[in-house]
Amino acid sequence: MVTSVSILGATGSIGASTLDLLRDGAFRVTALTANSDAKKLATLAREFDAEIAAVSDEAAYTELKTLLAGTRTKALAGANGMAEAAAARSDILLSAIVGSAGLAPTIAGFAKGRRIALANKECLVTAGRLFMREAQAKGAIVLPVDSEHNAVFQALACGKRDAVSKVTLTASGGPFRTMSRERLAIVTPEEAVRHPNWSMGAKISIDSATLMNKGLELIEAAYLFDLAPSQLDVLIHPQSVVHALVEFHDGSVVAQMAHPDMRIPIGFCLAWPERMNWNAPKLDLAKLGTLHFEAPDYERFPALKLARSALETGGGAPNVLNAANEVAIDAFRAKRLSFQGIPGLVEAVLDKAAKEGHLREPGTVNDALAVDHVARSFAATLLPQFAAKAS
Ligand code: NDP
Ligand code: MG
Repeated sequence: MVTSVSILGATGSIGASTLDLLRDGAFRVTALTANSDAKKLATLAREFDAEIAAVSDEAAYTELKTLLAGTRTKALAGANGMAEAAAARSDILLSAIVGSAGLAPTIAGFAKGRRIALANKECLVTAGRLFMREAQAKGAIVLPVDSEHNAVFQALACGKRDAVSKVTLTASGGPFRTMSRERLAIVTPEEAVRHPNWSMGAKISIDSATLMNKGLELIEAAYLFDLAPSQLDVLIHPQSVVHALVEFHDGSVVAQMAHPDMRIPIGFCLAWPERMNWNAPKLDLAKLGTLHFEAPDYERFPALKLARSALETGGGAPNVLNAANEVAIDAFRAKRLSFQGIPGLVEAVLDKAAKEGHLREPGTVNDALAVDHVARSFAATLLPQFAAKAS
């Protein structure tokens, strides 16, 4: 039987990698979504003969509808349109919207036996416990697309859960791994989006440069695999060949390796529990020669420390961290905040939210979105204080 797939965030980097794998025709496309890029979405909907195309931004609806005239694709818009697209029946829902905007539509897509291929780590950071509880209640199967978590998922299959002692996520260290603190003070958004190993969207590329991405991934792993913060570790590995390591009580360490190409973990999720037989780039370790590992520098990259501490605090702290970080990244991209202002602003928002009692554990999606909203407004209020230092 042909497997059907829907993609939330089809016009992004993960969306493009996924569609690339679907081009061989072994899959059928049900729904595709974007935020506002109606042109790109309509082109993809036409190419893949999608049943539904949805834009989150209602202002883009007319353009989308016009561009889809004469096709069988139904055009939708707004929060309801996104929820309808997410819930449309398909075997796999690939969740690849960027940011906390992905939470509500992804949860709207939960259904019994449906595979949720999750790239949007912010779902688990904003409301991890709720997200996993809802998935279980609805019988949805969450499969991690994020390369490190996909690696952990694969390595965990080598032993019983109660025999796991430690899970280590690797991090490339980003483009500024060896940069001095003084030089870090003046890096530009253009430099920050240039990742050495992966080609990704702008937001996650900047998160990789601050190491906030690895912090978000620690939180993602804690909820996804139900691990205590003390069981989670980070290792810098500039080649991005070993994606994660699982250590068992008997001292055995199982690692997953692959060429750094997101199509590999995406293909894993699309074919699971089988393996996709495609022309994947293969590893040549002899050619690579050496693999390098080092401990992360929490002083030069304080975002990682902040994320770990938010994970330890628990409740709504990861949600506040994420929202503040999204505002900080936008400000950095707009050159209103320095690179080091990003963790500075996030820390200030976390302090304010703690003092004012906004770190509660979200019980519902609306709860999570309300705290997200408060944290964003705190970040906007505190921004000018940090922005002044950017110029
Ligand atoms: P991109 O920025 O490339 O794409 C984001 C997608 O989300 C686009 O389709 C965009 O639509 C859509 N979108 C943006 N804002 C909204 C919104 N408010 N409502 C609805 N849709 C929206 O991101 P990536 O593909 O790089 O990343 C997607 C997710 O996957 C992120 O959570 C990231 O952390 C995660 N991830 C990405 C990896 C990568 O290699 N890129 C690796 C591991 C995880 P439009 O085009 O209209 O703006
Ligand atoms: Mg990752």
